[in-house]
Parts: sequence; C-alpha cells; structure tokens
Amino acid sequence: MPLPKFDYLRPETVEELTAILAKYGADAKLLAGGTDLLVLMRERLIRPRYVIDIKGIRDLHKLSWDEKEGLTIGATVTLNELIASEVVRESFNVLWKAASTLADPTIRNRATLVGNICNASPAADTAPALLVLDAEVEVVNANGRRIIPIRDFFTGVKRTSLKLGEFVEAVRIPKSPDGARGDYLKWGRTRGEDLAVVGVAALVANSGKEIMRIALSSVAPTPLRIFEVEEIPMGGCSPAEQISKAVSIVREKISPIADVRGGREYRTHMAGVLTKRILEGLLGVS
Ligand SMILES: Cc1cc2nc3c(=O)[nH]c(=O)nc-3n(C[C@H](O)[C@H](O)[C@H](O)COP(=O)(O)OP(=O)(O)OC[C@H]3O[C@@H](n4cnc5c(N)ncnc54)[C@H](O)[C@@H]3O)c2cc1C
Repeated sequence: MPLPKFDYLRPETVEELTAILAKYGADAKLLAGGTDLLVLMRERLIRPRYVIDIKGIRDLHKLSWDEKEGLTIGATVTLNELIASEVVRESFNVLWKAASTLADPTIRNRATLVGNICNASPAADTAPALLVLDAEVEVVNANGRRIIPIRDFFTGVKRTSLKLGEFVEAVRIPKSPDGARGDYLKWGRTRGEDLAVVGVAALVANSGKEIMRIALSSVAPTPLRIFEVEEIPMGGCSPAEQISKAVSIVREKISPIADVRGGREYRTHMAGVLTKRILEGLLGVS
C-alpha cells in the first residue's frame, strides 16, 4: 500500500525544528530512519499531516565520548554507526550487543537508537541496555531543555513521557562503574531478523562497589528494569545463590502477554533461563 499524503519538512537547525513542532504539534511526526514510522503510516495506523525529516540537522548527528560527560548519542546516529564505535564496543558492551541484535544490517543502516526508544515498543532491543546503564534522555522544547532518566521515559505500550512539542536531542550514558561488565541476550523465534520473545540485559561489577542490574524487553507493557534484584545481598551469598535469587525475582516481577511470538508461561520461563545464562557468563559461574 502506498503512503498516505503528507507534507514533508526538512529543518536544518534545532531551533527550526522546535518552531515547527510548536506550530504543528499533534499533526506532526518526526522521521529519523523511518523504519518504524513509515511502516505505521503505510498500514494507516497513523496519518500525520506533516512529516519532519530530522536527518538534515547537523547538531543531532553527534556520537562522542568524554570522561565527564559520558557517551552522547545524537538523535540521527544510526545503529550501524553506534556498532562501529570502538568506545561503544569496549566500554558499553551491553549496548553494543543489544544494537547488534536489532533487525539486520540494512535496517540498522537507517534505524537510530533514539527512534528505537521513541517508538517505545515493549520489545525495543536497545531499551534494556539503556536501563542498566542508567542512561538519560535529553529533551528539547520551546522553553529550553530537560533531562528524563531512562527509567522514567517509558510510560506504556508505544507511550513515552515526551510532551507535545518536545523531541529527543540525544541520549547520554554516564561512565560505567569500575570493573563493570555487561551483556544482552535476545531470545527470538528465528536466528535472523525478528523481535524478541524475551530480551535480557545485565550489568555486573564485583570490584569496588558490587553491582547487579537486570532489565528486560518483551515481558511487560514497557521495557523493565528489575530494581528488586539490586537488593540481593552480595556479601555472604555465593554467586550461584545470587543468580538463583535473581531468577526467582525476575520471574515474579514480570507480566508478559501471550502473542504470536510466545505464550505467557513460555516467556516467564525463558526470562528466567536467560537471566541465569547471562549472569553465569558475567560472574564466571559454570
Ligand atoms: C524489518 C524490521 C525489523 C525490525 N527489527 C527490530 C528488532 O529486532 N528490534 C527492535 O527493537 N526493533 C526492530 N524494528 C523496529 C525499528 O527498526 C527500530 O525501532 C528502530 O530503531 C527505529 O528507529 P528509526 O530511526 O527508524 O525510527 P523512526 O521510524 O524514524 O521513528 C520511530 C518513532 O520515533 C519518533 N522519533 C524519531 N526520532 C525522534 C526524536 N528525536 N524525538 C522524538 N521522537 C522521535 C518518530 O516520530 C516515530 O514515532 C524493526 C523494524 C523493521 C522494519
């Protein structure tokens, strides 16, 4: 089916984009890679009057690393650009792994990380990684800028805490704690391109401050960080016991639905299996 009719706008600065959004508000939709937006438009699930292509805004195409500022991923940075970054691969491996599992190289050549979180699918692959990394979302509106911690960004299926007239300028990730190691495991119906039946991201550190963070996709209306896992006492408890407690907590806290990709019980079971597998790998337990 062809796309419905719309007016195409291509601002070149953040100020122009802010003014366009202030004027057209709910009638406008931003276009980054278009791999979600154009599918929804073609299926007539949304019909924006104005499509605002943000790829011409140079300031949004920023991928930088700084000890103090952390990692900044601008709104038009594609997933392939992210995956090609040595800093991301070496210092933010959980994000590198998550981005590498999303769709296939041709989609990743267009798709952006910011588009992935703004689309707010419960299955968004980069979201669990951003949750365990304590990312922040930098938002611009007509009155200036504000920061939304990623843990407060997702509010429901395909819903975020962005207000009318706001857009995401970048995602910022702070330097990880000393000795931190992360991973992302995605369970799909096929080895190739498919949304996750369940996705699990983990970040652990056992030198200096002990840390165990877990977040999942496809197990609740939003991507979910399981904060209760972080209360498991790390001292006086073997890694195997910690993992067993984490698996029980994860299975208790999630609320998956049944759909074409898997049933509720299957997803709950696999969330535990992946949690065990990922923590055993990161903690060196065999
Ligand atoms: C074949 C195929 C396979 C896929 N496989 C996966 C997969 O395995 N895992 C997965 O997670 N996803 C998958 N997706 C979904 C999609 O590719 C990702 O969500 C992608 O990251 C979206 O990025 P984009 O730049 O294309 O977003 P777009 O489609 O351009 O935008 C997505 C939404 O975010 C809004 N938006 C974009 N940028 C901003 C901004 N700066 N501020 C505010 N709102 C903004 C848009 O208006 C739109 O509503 C797949 C899609 C296809 C077509």
